[in-house]
Amino acid sequence: MRKKIVAGNWKMNLLLDEAKTLHHAVTSNVKENQYGCEVYHFVPSLYITSLLNETNAVAVGAQNGHPSKNGAFTGEISLHQLKKTGVSSVLIGHSERRQQFHESNAFLKEKVNAALAEKMKIFFCCGESLEQRESGDYVRVVIEQLNQSLFHLSSEEMKNVVIAYEPIWAIGTGKTATPEQANEMHIQIRKAVASTYSDEIAENTNILYGGSCNPSNAVELFSQSDIDGGLIGGASLKAEDFISILKAAQ
Ligand code: PEP
Repeated sequence: MRKKIVAGNWKMNLLLDEAKTLHHAVTSNVKENQYGCEVYHFVPSLYITSLLNETNAVAVGAQNGHPSKNGAFTGEISLHQLKKTGVSSVLIGHSERRQQFHESNAFLKEKVNAALAEKMKIFFCCGESLEQRESGDYVRVVIEQLNQSLFHLSSEEMKNVVIAYEPIWAIGTGKTATPEQANEMHIQIRKAVASTYSDEIAENTNILYGGSCNPSNAVELFSQSDIDGGLIGGASLKAEDFISILKAAQ
């Protein structure tokens, strides 16, 4: 039985005081209620050290990390630096990084390898554009992303990977994939994991849904057979909304 995971992706939002207040509110609530799901906050890297000490009821993860350990990469932070600072989980392959920062499947593969070398948990994001969805080619596109950046890993390494399916057309748009559309893709992803690795690895891999998930649609999304929780953007910025989503994952 897979334990559900709910992760907030704060993106480039909140000032430090607001970030501390939000992290504290969610952490206190999780400690009190013990929802039974794993909870993560993927925060702006600048705030990581200020939030890490609060307790580990809500893990603090990074939204990005550079694969090189160190070097002439002005403005970047390496996965190695993040790990040595106490961060154990990272988002890789978010569509905003793929689109706005031109991160290719090959570069994401380098990040995956570097994160695993640091023994970090990877939240690997994949998803199709609206055009790809409408052309009917969406399953091939998503499986290709997994094949090119993730499926070279060994079975043992796959145990440190969570997959987040995030259709680009549903991110920050208020347009959610229907529970059936999301579950259909999750089933395809799980089949691909099973055929690349084994039924056992597929059964144990968490596949999260992301894309305009909110307190009103979370229960239905999370009750689908193959949706193991969510990666939450906008709705993770308000403690009350995020906590409602945690309750939906019970
Ligand atoms: C995301 O960016 O990972 C995301 C799911 O955003 P939103 O929930 O705002 O659509």
